[in-house]
Amino acid sequence: MKYENLSFKDFENIQGQDIFTTAGQFNSYLAYLQGNGHLNYRIESLTPVGPEMNLLMPGNKIPQWAVCLVSNDYLGFSQHPKVKEAVIRGTEVFGTGSGASPAIGGHFVYHRQLERKIAAFYKRTDAILYTTGYTANSATFQCLLHKEDIAILDMAVHASVYEGCLATNVKTFLHNNLEQLELVLKNAQHSYRTKMVIVDGVYSQDGDLADLAKIAELTHRYGAYLAVDDAHGVGVVGDTGRGVIEMYDLFDQVDIITGTFSKALGNMGGYVIASPELILYLKYQSKQHLFSTTATPAIAGILKAIELVDEEPQWRDELWNNINYLKGGLIDLGFDVGTTASAVIPVKVGDIAKTLEAGKLLLKMGIFSNPIMYPAVSKKNARIRMNVMATHTREHLDKVLNAFSDIDQKLSISKNKLAS
Ligand code: PMP
Repeated sequence: MKYENLSFKDFENIQGQDIFTTAGQFNSYLAYLQGNGHLNYRIESLTPVGPEMNLLMPGNKIPQWAVCLVSNDYLGFSQHPKVKEAVIRGTEVFGTGSGASPAIGGHFVYHRQLERKIAAFYKRTDAILYTTGYTANSATFQCLLHKEDIAILDMAVHASVYEGCLATNVKTFLHNNLEQLELVLKNAQHSYRTKMVIVDGVYSQDGDLADLAKIAELTHRYGAYLAVDDAHGVGVVGDTGRGVIEMYDLFDQVDIITGTFSKALGNMGGYVIASPELILYLKYQSKQHLFSTTATPAIAGILKAIELVDEEPQWRDELWNNINYLKGGLIDLGFDVGTTASAVIPVKVGDIAKTLEAGKLLLKMGIFSNPIMYPAVSKKNARIRMNVMATHTREHLDKVLNAFSDIDQKLSISKNKLAS
């Protein structure tokens, strides 16, 4: 088997081949990537999430410190003393587990508090919790949309949304292309029972935003509902950190808000916010909620983190200082960072092999970033993706900029270098 032009997707479902054989081939492919120093996945950190982490590389015995640009803990709240204290207190009072699924004994006061708090954060009253942000999307859309319905997706929505829409009709429109969205809405207008437009607030690969006011207007004009996943927007975007929905003041215009506690809120779990009737429906009909044990008492930390978004806005200010510094520095060096307007900063490379090599060289220089390629983005759109945190210092970011300048000499990634 030739591995050069393959990706993980090629091993998803090989026709006519037993799954254990496929797994064996996939193992060989991973060994091939590792042999080239291109297996940038599952790198083990020996230290907590933070602007620097001590990493154990595959095959290495001695760990290496690196500036970390791979964490969605944008405000640093997973390490905040008040958040940790709330987790410890929650655990002391309620123990380490909740013991049952929500309908039959696993619904506790801390779950109810979190439902109310996250709903109120978005100026609403009702929310349902899931144990991951992934399931918040996949389970909700699976429960709400069936074969008589249609999901209209921005192409760049998260994999969890696609999974939730496997049993319904799906039409995608080119990323952020509102003319195409309108065309799809027009064509679907009289044909389906429930029509749902699903977009992200902040997109996870490009860091750009949805033009939500126009999307909401179009969606409702054609009799569809609007669902927004603002996993990367919460805590980061908007004057008070309420995400893209706040930027456009659409608190009462978005029919379904989904999100995660695993990024700026420093914990784990997902939420869905919608009308009281829809939320109650999900609580009794969404199988992944109904038949799965509820979150542990450690979610008490999320209650504190949500308060800190308002009580300590300085973290958001620090984060934006860092975003602007890194983004500005990369642009000055001639790199293409696309249209990012969030804490996700891509450096577009294009070519997959060059991107893998860039990731490897950066890591050698003590910069831990994510090479992103097909199928996460299209084949010609590979990039190095970085997540900025409030806790990065100027020294960290200067080290990143210097490393990029260095790898540009070797790989010719920037516009300046390509033109020379
Ligand atoms: N939505 C988006 C846009 C995401 O980027 C992610 C996580 N990468 C999720 C949902 C899933 O959230 P979680 O990690 O909490 O499962």
